Amino acid sequence: MTDDILISSCQCGKVRCQGIGQPIISGVCYCDDCQAGAKLLEVLDGASKVTEEDDGTHYLTYRDDRFRCIEGGELLQAYQHSLNARTRRMVASCCNTAMFLKFSKGHWTSSYAKRFTGDIPAVEMRTQTQFRNSDLPLPDDAPSYRTFGLRLFWRLFTSRIAMLTG
Ligand SMILES: [Zn+2]
Repeated sequence: MTDDILISSCQCGKVRCQGIGQPIISGVCYCDDCQAGAKLLEVLDGASKVTEEDDGTHYLTYRDDRFRCIEGGELLQAYQHSLNARTRRMVASCCNTAMFLKFSKGHWTSSYAKRFTGDIPAVEMRTQTQFRNSDLPLPDDAPSYRTFGLRLFWRLFTSRIAMLTG
């Protein structure tokens, strides 16, 4: 595994985060939670889009110990699209830019792929297409799953083991 570092930043540049090495997964999610989250965050004043043309959200998902905010962390503000949402989406309050999200109890952080510059890993899978409403054709550059798919759980599981064993 290479230890290349990818940097994500908000629109005005005050908040910067870094992901180290290969993410657990580079994937597009269409689930209802991600769609509700996108609707909430994209209407904030001055916000930029977090979704793709077909309303999927592309994330680079990192182990928590491989992703962190390196500048402007105090400007991050958590948003939840509903009281019982299991995700907290972190927004750079300086310019209303959605940066990443935390799934409650998960050992991973999903960062919005659109915020990264440079060569980011290609999409490896599309998940929860059962919630996809777009009329656009489903891209066939990577496997798609109606639910989260076993492959994703396997990646999350093995990344947890790797994290525990250093
Ligand atoms: Zn900003």
